[in-house]
Amino acid sequence: MSFSMHGVGVSGGIAIGNAHLISHAILEVPYYVLPSAQIPDEITRFETAITTTRNELEALRVNIPAGSPAEFSAFLGLHLLILGDNTLSRTPIDLIKSQRFNAEWALKQQMDTLLAQFGQIEDDYLRERKADVVQVVERVLKALLGHSSYMPPPVSAELGRILVAHDLSPADMMLFKQQPFAAFITDVGGATSHTAIVARSLNIPSIVALHHAHQLIRENELLIVDGQQGVVIVNPDRQILAEYKLRQSQWEIEKQKLKRLKSTAAATLDGTAVELHANIELPQDIPQVKASGATGIGLFRSEFLFLNRDDLPDEEEQFAAYRKVAQDMKGLPVTIRTLDLGADKQLRFADRSGDNPALGLRAIRLCLAEPQMFHTQLRAILRASHYGKVRLLIPMLSSLSELRQTLHLIGHAKQELAQESVPFDTLIPVGGMIEIPAAALSAQAFAKSLDFLSIGTNDLIQYTLAIDRTDDTVAHLYDPLHPAVLQLIAMSIAAADRAGIPVSVCGEMAGDAKLIRLLLGLGLRQFSMHPAHVLTVKQQILTSDLPHLTGVAQKMLKTYEPEKLHQLLARMNA
Ligand code: PEP
Ligand code: MG
Repeated sequence: MSFSMHGVGVSGGIAIGNAHLISHAILEVPYYVLPSAQIPDEITRFETAITTTRNELEALRVNIPAGSPAEFSAFLGLHLLILGDNTLSRTPIDLIKSQRFNAEWALKQQMDTLLAQFGQIEDDYLRERKADVVQVVERVLKALLGHSSYMPPPVSAELGRILVAHDLSPADMMLFKQQPFAAFITDVGGATSHTAIVARSLNIPSIVALHHAHQLIRENELLIVDGQQGVVIVNPDRQILAEYKLRQSQWEIEKQKLKRLKSTAAATLDGTAVELHANIELPQDIPQVKASGATGIGLFRSEFLFLNRDDLPDEEEQFAAYRKVAQDMKGLPVTIRTLDLGADKQLRFADRSGDNPALGLRAIRLCLAEPQMFHTQLRAILRASHYGKVRLLIPMLSSLSELRQTLHLIGHAKQELAQESVPFDTLIPVGGMIEIPAAALSAQAFAKSLDFLSIGTNDLIQYTLAIDRTDDTVAHLYDPLHPAVLQLIAMSIAAADRAGIPVSVCGEMAGDAKLIRLLLGLGLRQFSMHPAHVLTVKQQILTSDLPHLTGVAQKMLKTYEPEKLHQLLARMNA
C-alpha cells in the first residue's frame, strides 16, 4: 500500500531507496522466548556481558584522564556498585531461567521494575540515581548486543539505504558520518536540534518530526524522501517514482551549476563584500569546507570530539585536532568554540542533564563548574593558535561576570604556556556567542571586552521564544521572523558595529536561503553555515540590492504583524 507522511525537512534533496529501521539499544531491545536447552548458554552470555561491563568501568576508573572533573571517580564507583548489585546482576538470571527470556529482555524487564520503585522514593538524591541505573543497563545492553546495536550494515544494494529511526541523539548521529546512506528520517526532533544539524552535515536529504515513521514503515520498503518539502512517500507507484527520479536529476543539475560559483568572491550588487564561513563538527569535515569555497571556519563545535567515547580527550589529542584544522585551513580564520556540552550533548560517562537540560549546566556554565576540564581545552586551543589563524569563541554567555571569569581563565592558561615557553598567538581573538536574550540585551557591554561576536540564532530563538529546539511538539513555534528575535539580532549587530568589532551569525538562519537578504538588510556581513549551503547563500548575495534590503529591513523592525513581516520578506526575495 502506498502512503505519504509529512515532517520537517532539515536537509534538502531527493533520495529513493529501501528503508532500514534502526533503534536505540535502550528503546528497543529484542524479545524472544528461548528453547529450554539454550538457557545455560544465555546465562553465560549475560554473565559475560556483566564481566565485560565491569572490566570497562574498572579500566576507566584506573585511567581517569588528566583534566577530568573531580566527581568522575566517585561516579564510576557508583556505577560499579549498581552493576554489582544482585538486583541487576542476579535477578535477570532468574528471569532467564523462569520465563525463558533472552538476556536483553530479562535485563530490560528488571530495569523497568527498578525504575518504577525509584519513582516512589521521596529522597531527591536517590530518585535521581534513576539515570545512573539506566546508564549502567545501557552499557550492559551494548555489551550484549555487540556494542553497535544500532549500526546498520554497509550498503550493498544498488539503491541507497534510508535510515528510519524513532529518535537519535547527536552522538548517535555522529556514528553515521562514515556510513554511505541515501537519506535519514526520524519520528521526533526539531529542525535546529543538534541531531538535525549533524544530519545536515551528512549532506543527504533528512526529515525529522514524522511522528510514526518508525512504527508504520517496514524494513526494506521502498521510500522516496523529499528533504526540501519534508515528505516521505512509502511504496510509491510507478508514475510517482518516475516523477521523483526526474526531480532528483534536476536537483543534481542545479547543484552542479552552483559549483561554478565556488571561487567567485561573495559581494552584493553594489560591491559590498560579505564573508561566508563554514560550521564543522570534526577535523574530517575540512574537505567539504574546501569544496564549498568557504573562506574560513566560523564555528568548530569542539564538543563533538568528546562524544561517543568513555573518556575525555586529553590536551595532546585536542591539540592535534585543533592544529590539524588550523593547518589545513592555511591561514584562513578558524573559530574554535569552547565546549558546548550539556542539554542534548551529554558525555557518555557523565550525563549531567537535569530536569530542564537546556536551562541547566550547559556550555560555558559547565566549563566554569569544571575548571580543570576547561583549562585543558584552553591550553590545547592556545597551542594550536601557533599553527594558523585561530579564534576562540565562548558559547552561551549570559552575564558580564561569567565573561570576566572566562577571560581570567584564558589569561591564566596563556600565562602558564608563556612560563613553559610554549608558543601560541598572544593576540588570539576571543569572541562571545549571543545565544541568550540576556546576552543580546548586554551585547554593548560584552563587546567592550571581546574581539568579535557570533550570534547563535538556534539558541537565541529557543531561549527567546521558550521552545525546546529538540521537541517536535513545539517545532511549529520556531520562528526566526518573530519580531522579538529580529530586534535582538539587530541590537547585537548594532552593538558590534558601535564597538568596531566583527559580528557573524552562525546559527541555521545563516544557511537558510530565504533569510539571507533579511540578515544583509539588518547589517550582517559575515555568515557561517554548514558547507553544503555556502554556494546557495552566495548565489543569493550576488543578486542582492543592499540599499533596497536595508530599507525593507528597517520597516520590518517597526512591525509586529506576522503577515506584514512575511510580505516584506517576500519583497526582499522577489
Ligand atoms: C546556535 O545556537 O545557533 C549555535 C550556532 O550553536 P549550536 O547550534 O551548536 O547550539
Ligand atoms: Mg548554540
